[in-house]
Amino acid sequence: MQVVCLDLEGVLVPEIWIAFAERTGIAEFRRTTRDEPDYDRLMRWRLALLRQHRLKLADIQGVIAGMAPLPGAREFLDDLRSRYQVIILSDTFYEFADPLMRQLGRPTLFCHRLETDAEGYVAAYHLRQPDQKRQAVQALQGLNFRVIAAGDSYNDTAMLGAADAGFLIHPPANVVAQFPQFAVHSSYAGLKASIDAAAARLGAG
Ligand SMILES: [Mg+2]
Repeated sequence: MQVVCLDLEGVLVPEIWIAFAERTGIAEFRRTTRDEPDYDRLMRWRLALLRQHRLKLADIQGVIAGMAPLPGAREFLDDLRSRYQVIILSDTFYEFADPLMRQLGRPTLFCHRLETDAEGYVAAYHLRQPDQKRQAVQALQGLNFRVIAAGDSYNDTAMLGAADAGFLIHPPANVVAQFPQFAVHSSYAGLKASIDAAAARLGAG
């Protein structure tokens, strides 16, 4: 019995904060964990910036609703879901992801949650649990599933390492250099072939 776990941003949809920076014209939103490695500081800075620009959750969702999945992502995911159980493991927030998940046919998503205040501003963020991608893979394995995982960046490598088979797709060069143990794909067709090969291998084992 197998489950396929996919990252969301950079794999099926564009990086949400970067697209958000482009759509709002507020370049400061491009700041990522590469610029500020302390995730909590980065998120508190982002929430303050949202308030400074008077952007409420509904405004953010409106901007994100204008975004679309990456070309071919819906077809890739639909094909995968016709043959496997698929779970999206993402470090985004349910409230941000919703417009994109609608366009992806609402696959199962495990991510984090935002808290809004009475005026509709994002007041806080809540991680569902630390290191949730790896925890989810290990929990599925505890339920006797074999897990095949794919992601694009640093925050996926623990998930890929814990999975029975792990692949990179569209990764930045520094991630490829640092994690040579994971096969790299640059297309959905290539990733699909690797997932099918891994499923056949794991199914037979
Ligand atoms: Mg990603």
